[in-house]
Order: sequence, then structure tokens, then C-alpha cells
Amino acid sequence: MKIETLAVHAGRETDPATGALREPIHLSTTFERAADGDYPQGHNYTRNSNPNRNSLERAITALEGGAGAVAFASGSAATLAAFSLAAPGGRIVCSADCYHGTAKQLRGLLADFGISAEFVDTSDTAAVARALEAPASLLWVETPSNPLLKVSDIAALSRLAHQCSALLACDNTFSSPVLQRPFDFGADLVMHSTTKYLGGHSDVLGGVLVTREKGPALERLRDFQSTTGGVPSPFDCWLVLRSLATLPLRVRAQSANAAAIARFLNADRRIERVHYPGLESHSGHALAVRQMPDGFGSVVSFQVPGGAAQAMAVAARAQLFTRATSLGGVESLIEHRASMEGPHSQTPPNLLRLSIGVENVSDLIADLDQALGTGS
Ligand SMILES: *Cc1c(COP(=O)(O)O)cnc(C)c1O
Repeated sequence: MKIETLAVHAGRETDPATGALREPIHLSTTFERAADGDYPQGHNYTRNSNPNRNSLERAITALEGGAGAVAFASGSAATLAAFSLAAPGGRIVCSADCYHGTAKQLRGLLADFGISAEFVDTSDTAAVARALEAPASLLWVETPSNPLLKVSDIAALSRLAHQCSALLACDNTFSSPVLQRPFDFGADLVMHSTTKYLGGHSDVLGGVLVTREKGPALERLRDFQSTTGGVPSPFDCWLVLRSLATLPLRVRAQSANAAAIARFLNADRRIERVHYPGLESHSGHALAVRQMPDGFGSVVSFQVPGGAAQAMAVAARAQLFTRATSLGGVESLIEHRASMEGPHSQTPPNLLRLSIGVENVSDLIADLDQALGTGS
């Protein structure tokens, strides 16, 4: 079945008890045992499993084309669970231009746990090959990257990872399964911050890991989920599942709006540089066309002449765009990224990151046009 159909139907069944089309929210923390001590419905305690969480995990498994999914209370909790696969004492090779919270885990917590990390530009396949000359357990790739939208070759990187018996994990948050399907290119593990496109309405925090195959990695992740207990609430699972029905519609509309905005900015003399994989001038464009055939996502970054003050001034004049972090929601956001990322940030100080929503694109362009003023 195609993704639009799966988005509406996967993980959903009519409730056998009531005939309700939508699954009730199961708040019960505990489930009754049968006289023989068994759990006939498969649930015993909500940290271990919950009907709403199971439904969400089944739906996301279907959308990514994987073998199983494990949901967490945030994308960051999902990331940590994936990194635990490198224990004990492993080494993780990670995209240098990655989500700042991911880098923070590797530099701080994981180092304290005895797992080492090396950051490389994963859009440079030869650099990854060099980094994998030393033993590694996990290659963590974010493509397109955050916030420079660099594109890494998932198929080439999965071959490199597998040659040295490492797993390839893809943070697929920026694309969603609508635009990019890492398992088709050999990835072993997919991670999403469901806070972004999968939730899609800026009102629920969550994360998920999907594995390509059943096996020991999936079992270890399930065990990590129930043992550490960083699980999403039943209501949060219900909200994300509800949002998945419109995921393909939202993501395609957002991506089309973003492409038009990237073209507008690219043609504007008040802009120093635009980063968007859909632009022919982008260094990863040809690869992005192969890897993301249906669109390039809704994040557009651009640099204005000058520094942080000039970029902040553009954001300050925005009326329709909201100044806020995050991405993937139905509303458009503008963010001065370097000041959000903190002291380790590699992001140029004159860079603004846009997350494009589903508004009418001419209204969005008019707002950016006025916010750019007479040139910063
Ligand atoms: C937001 C984000 C995360 C972290 O997810 P949370 O749900 O905020 O914990 C990880 N990776 C990417 C690419 C993100 O955008």
C-alpha cells in the first residue's frame, strides 16, 4: 500500500468493545490478570506496554517500512536509547552538523558512560571512510543536516558502516518517511523526533526508533524503553497517531511552500546565501534528487549580509512568521539558530532558519519581503 493509505489506516482498528472508529485513550496504568496468571490482552503495566503506544508504533513501522518501532517521550530519549546500542565501550561516528542536543549527549553523557564519539562531515563520504578505519559500533547520520541542510549519501554510508560491522542510524526528522525512506538505502535504524512533522501541530513532544529488521537490536531497544521508562503518555501517542493521517498532505504542502520561498530568497539581492537542497546551486542537489524524489522538506536556512545583529533585526520585523525554535508544524517559524544552539555552535551568526508551514505561500513571501527591509 502507498504511504497516503498507510497514513490513514495503519495502526487503526474499530474498537471491538464499542464500535468506535477512534481508539479510546487508555489511561489505566495496570491490566487485569486471568485466573491462570496470564495477561490475555498482552498488557500488564503501562510502562511495559500500552494499547495507544502499540497502535502508534505499528503505524510508524508501516510508514517507514520497518520491522518494529519503539516510542519514547522525546526525540532525545529515542536518541539516547539508540546510542545505548554502542554500550559497552563502543565508538559512535556522528554527522558534525547534527541536532545540537544529539552532539551534547555524545560530548557529555555518553562520554561519561565510556562511549566515545567522533564528529565528521557525513556529506563527505571519503571522510566517513577514514573515520571508520578505527572500530565503530554506530554511524549516526542526519540528512539533510541541521541547520545547513547538507545532504549525506545514505546508500554509500550504509555500505561503509556494514563493511566494519557498524549499524547505520538515520535521524529522519527533517524529511519524514514521506520524503525520505532510509531503509530503502540500507539503513538499519531510523529515528524521529515526533515533536516535528509526525506530530505536526507544535503541541506534543515525542520520539521513536524504527528498525529495519526484527532481531537483537529491536529487542534491546524495547528493553531499554520499558526498563528506563522514558515512554510517551497514552494521550501523546493518541495525538501523534491522529496527526499521522495528514502527514503526507502536510509534508508535501510544506515542502512545496519551502521550495518557492527558497527560490524567492535565492533571487533576492538582500540575501548573502540560501541553504536548501532543492536549489540547483546546492552542493547536495543531485544526491537529494535521488534520495528525496518527492521534495526537499520545509526547512530553509539563509544568511544575511552582516552578523548576528543584522540577522536578529530581520527576525524582529517578521509579522506572520513566529520567532520560535522547532520545525515541522503547520505554522511558519523563523529562528536565529546560533544563539539557540549555545557555546559549541558551528552555525554562522548571520544565519536564520525557517520552518515553513501550510499557510498561503504568497503571504509568507510578502512577510519575508517586508522583514528584509531595505537590506540589512
Ligand atoms: C528536535 C530534534 C531532535 C530532538 O527531539 P526532541 O523531541 O526535541 O527531544 C533530534 N533531532 C532532530 C533533527 C530534531 O529536529
